[in-house]
Amino acid sequence: MFSAPLHFSFTLSSLPPSLPPSLPPGEIAIRVFRACTELGIRTVAVYSEQDRGQMHRQKADEAYLIGKGLLPVAAYLHIPDIIRVAKENNVDAIHPGYGFLSERSDFAQACADAGVRFIGPSPETVRKMGDKVEARSLAISAGVPVVPGTDGPIASLEEARLFAETYGFPIIFKAAYGGGGRGMRVVKEYEELEENYQRAYSEALTAFGNGALFVEKFIERPRHIEVQILGDKYGNVIHLFERDCSIQRRHQKVVEIAPAADLDPNLRDRLTSDSVKLAKQVGYENAGTVEFLVDKHGKHYFIEVNSRLQVEHTVTEEVTDVDLVHAQLRVCEGRSLSELGLIQEQIRVNGCAIQCRVTTEDPARGFQPDTGRLEVFRSGEGMGIRLDSASAFPGAVISPHYDSLLVKVIASGKDMATAAAKMHRALSEFRVRGVKTNIPFLQNVLSNSQFLQSTVDTQFIDENQDLFIMKPVQNRAQKLLHYLGHVMVNGPTTPIPVKAKPSSIDPVVPTVPMGEPPLGFRDVLLREGPEGFAKAVRAHPGLLLMDTTFRDAHQSLLATRVRTQDLKKIAPYVSHNFSNLFSLENWGDAAARSQRCGTNYPDNTVFR
Ligand code: ADP
Ligand code: ADP
Ligand code: MG
Repeated sequence: MFSAPLHFSFTLSSLPPSLPPSLPPGEIAIRVFRACTELGIRTVAVYSEQDRGQMHRQKADEAYLIGKGLLPVAAYLHIPDIIRVAKENNVDAIHPGYGFLSERSDFAQACADAGVRFIGPSPETVRKMGDKVEARSLAISAGVPVVPGTDGPIASLEEARLFAETYGFPIIFKAAYGGGGRGMRVVKEYEELEENYQRAYSEALTAFGNGALFVEKFIERPRHIEVQILGDKYGNVIHLFERDCSIQRRHQKVVEIAPAADLDPNLRDRLTSDSVKLAKQVGYENAGTVEFLVDKHGKHYFIEVNSRLQVEHTVTEEVTDVDLVHAQLRVCEGRSLSELGLIQEQIRVNGCAIQCRVTTEDPARGFQPDTGRLEVFRSGEGMGIRLDSASAFPGAVISPHYDSLLVKVIASGKDMATAAAKMHRALSEFRVRGVKTNIPFLQNVLSNSQFLQSTVDTQFIDENQDLFIMKPVQNRAQKLLHYLGHVMVNGPTTPIPVKAKPSSIDPVVPTVPMGEPPLGFRDVLLREGPEGFAKAVRAHPGLLLMDTTFRDAHQSLLATRVRTQDLKKIAPYVSHNFSNLFSLENWGDAAARSQRCGTNYPDNTVFR
C-alpha cells in the first residue's frame, strides 16, 4: 500500500525554548527502515546538517536535509521542513520514531493536514496522552487506579503544601508535559518543599517550554512495570504483556526485561486488562505503552501513557515474536489486528529478554557523557544477542548533540538466568575504545545477586553503591599499538635490549654514484618512440617490473608523513640503483592505475 517512500522523522513533548538532550535519531530510524525494507516499502530519511555523516542516511533509500542552519535537535523539530520534504518526495506516511516530534499532537495534525499519514495514534489521542494530567484523569474515568495526586496542575506552592498535609511526605513534583525521566523532584520533608517547587518549575519550563507541575504521592520502592498495547482503526486493542523497567538511574531506564520476574498472575491480569480498558476508552490506534508503578504490597498505579514506540520495545518483540514496527505500519495502512494474526489468545510469552542501553557515559565520573571518535568498536554477538544501533563502528564520531545511547544490546534465552548469562558474555566481548562506556557498570548490575535471584525496584541503583565500584578497563591492545607506533616513528625512547639505537643518531645514507644515472626504458621511449619502445619490451628476455612504492608512499597510508619533497630527495638513489625497472608509479589513483593496466604503456615517470 505504501508504494511511495516512507518518510521518517522524530520528537519531544513540546517545543522547548532551550533544547534538552534527545536520543540520537539514527537508531530508531534504522529500526524502522529495516522493517520497511522487509515489507517492500521505500524509505526516505531526513537529517540535520550536523548529521550528514550519520548512518541512518545511508540505510534509507533516499535522504534529505532539513533545518538548514539550525542546531541538530532543532532541525528535527522543524515541522514545516519535514512536511515540505514529505510533499516534495511523494511520501505517504511518516514514522515519528521516539523522542523529538513523536508525541507532539501538532505534528500529527500537520501530517494529517498535509495528507500524509502519521504512524501513531490520532492527533487528539497524542494530545491527551502527552498531557500527564489529562491522561491521569482519563485513567480515573476508565476505573484504572492512579497514584494519589492533584487533579490538575498546581498554581501555587500553597496547593503543594495542602497536598502534602493531606497525604504526607514524601511527594514528587512532576512536569505535566515532562518525559524521559526529566522534570521530576522528590520532596522528603517539609523544609525541602519550597526549594524543590521552584526548581522543578524552572526545570520544566526550560526543558519542556511549560512549567506546569502536578504533585503525586511518592511511592516508596516501587517496581516500574509497563504494558505494550496495540490498537487498530476499528476499536480493537490487544496487549503484548509487560516489561519490567525498574532498573533506572535518575528516573531513566537503564536495563529492561520482559516478562517481569516473579509477577503474581493476578496482578499481571490487572495490569494488562487495565491497559486495554484505558486504550479502548480513548480509541487508541497503533502502538503504545501504559506505564504503572507497583508498590511493595502488589498494588498498581497508573503513571502515564507513551503514545509511540519505546526504546525498550525490542524485549517485547523478542518474547512475543511480534514485530512491532511491522504491526505499526500495517495498522496504519488500515489492516485490522485479526487480519494481521494479532489475536489476544494467540499472543504468548516465550522465555525472557533483557535489554541493556550501552551509553557513551563514563560511570567512573558520575556518568558524564563522553564524546569523540570510536578508535575501536567490536561488539559481542552470537546466539541470543540482538544489536540495535546506528553509529557504532570504528571511526564513528560520537557527537555531544544527543543523549549518549550507543547501542541497545538485547539478550534472549529460555529464562532470565540464561538471558542474563548471554548478556554478560556479550558485554564482555565488546571492545569500545576512544570513548568511555557504561559497560563496566552494566556488568556489575548483571552480576548482582539481587538482580539475578529476586526482583529489584526503582531505587535499586541508588541504594547499591557497590555497583559503582568498577574494574577499570585495561585497554592493553591500544596501549601496545600506541607504543609500537611511537617506537616505529620516533625510535626507542628507552634503552631496550634490541640492537636498534634511538632515532636521534644519524641514519646510514647510501652513497649516490657519481655521474649520470644508467639509461632505462624511458630513454628507449624518448629515443625510438612508441613502436621502438614496444619492440624493446618484446625483445626483453626477463620479467619487467613496475615499482609502486612512490605512489603508495605519496598517496596511501604514509601520505600523512611523506611529501613530494621527501620523494625528490630519494629519487637520485632510485634512479641509480633501480635503472632496470620497467617503470615507477609516482602519483595517480586506483582508477588511473587500472586504465594503465589496460594499455601496455606506462604513463608515469621513468627515472633516469
Ligand atoms: P517520564 O515521562 O519521564 O517517563 P514517568 O511519570 O513515567 O516520567 O516516571 C518516570 C519514573 O519516575 C518512574 O518509572 C519512577 O521510577 C519514577 N516515578 C514517577 N512518579 C513516581 C511516583 N509517584 N512515585 C515514585 N516514583 C515515581
Ligand atoms: P587502491 O586500489 O585504492 O590503491 P589498495 O588496497 O591497492 O587501494 O591499497 C593501496 C596501497 O595502500 C597499497 O599499495 C599499500 O601501500 C597501502 N595499503 C593498503 N592497505 C594496507 C595495509 N593493510 N597495510 C599497509 N599498507 C596498506
Ligand atoms: Mg515514563
